[in-house]
Amino acid sequence: MEAFVYNGLPTRVIFGSGTSQRLRAEIERTPCRRAFVIGTREQSASVEAVAASLGALAAGTFAGAAMHTPTDVTQEALARFNACGADCTVAVGGGSATGLGKAIALRTDAMQFVLPTTYAGSEMTPILGETENGLKTTQKTPKVQPEVAIYDVDLTLTLPAKMSATSGMNAIAHAVEALYAEDSNPIISVMAERAIGALGHALPQIVVDPQNKAARSDALYGAWLCGMCLGSVGMALHHKLCHVLGGSFDLPHAETHTVVLSHAFAYNAAAAPAAEQTLRRALGGNDGARALFDLAVALKAPTSLRALGMPESGIDRAADLAVKNPYWNPQPLERQAIRELIARAWAGEPPPPLASA
Ligand code: NAD
Repeated sequence: MEAFVYNGLPTRVIFGSGTSQRLRAEIERTPCRRAFVIGTREQSASVEAVAASLGALAAGTFAGAAMHTPTDVTQEALARFNACGADCTVAVGGGSATGLGKAIALRTDAMQFVLPTTYAGSEMTPILGETENGLKTTQKTPKVQPEVAIYDVDLTLTLPAKMSATSGMNAIAHAVEALYAEDSNPIISVMAERAIGALGHALPQIVVDPQNKAARSDALYGAWLCGMCLGSVGMALHHKLCHVLGGSFDLPHAETHTVVLSHAFAYNAAAAPAAEQTLRRALGGNDGARALFDLAVALKAPTSLRALGMPESGIDRAADLAVKNPYWNPQPLERQAIRELIARAWAGEPPPPLASA
């Protein structure tokens, strides 16, 4: 065994079916007594239902969370948080709701309780991305690590098939990059393999039958593990590319991850042979990148950046930005090779076969 460093994440995790009913007791375990329940506008009914379940513990609600945590939304929510004398946040929803809870915690040190309803994984990370004047900045600080995550599979049953597919691929991307992270470690690698296997098996069943509770449960378990991967080790080329593409061309988050993942992995596969072997074990086949591409196709998820609205003229700009201030990556970044990667992803072509496959 090679030397490694492992830092455990402090978030308390409750997992199962019907577990959201334990939220009240979870809050009462802590000194918090005035919960501020937040979510997106689309999930305002869930926000109100969760607040109602808390009875006197509910201090207020805010159903205005938005993608990429705009700071003007945070200011509005913060004013409401302070006005109602809240002492903790309850985020019900995906990464957008969780992001707003983190942004409030950053500014107030409030405890955070999260009820995740997508597979994005933000609830397990000390990472917060915020947008101001169209510019997104990301920071990593223990101040935003949620204290409690309550995974209730029942809350994920309403996630539409299409969003389940892309949210699940977004989660898999965290596990894939954890396999070859600069600070990878054996515990996280075990979690990553189990995560990719669980999601790779469950997602095709979910897109056919979104009410399949056993598959939903496996997917949510996989998503939790993926969140642990993202929160524990550094990410590489794939996340950098998605950051650049999302920010520069206003592309949707989970869909962009879905399109780029197989191409980013193909770029790294030869330099990360252990990751390649893990992907083959988790997804089957003899080419990890191809298995990721085939999974996206099987899920009827988008496979081209063109379909997401990126102009072809943007390929060169994206390549320039991707090699600027790069994240650590197992395969050194070469602009021309990165340009070819983006061009293939733009056109929706499969990744090139692994040389040794
Ligand atoms: P999201 O939270 O924006 O949700 C997408 C849409 O799905 C919203 O309209 C939401 O209301 C709806 N929705 C969510 N759950 C649903 C359900 N169960 N049933 C029906 N509708 C539902 O999307 P996301 O992909 O979960 O999160 C993306 C955001 O999270 C991005 O801003 C991204 O940067 C951030 N993120 C952050 C981290 C981190 O560690 N900081 C990790 C992953 C994602």
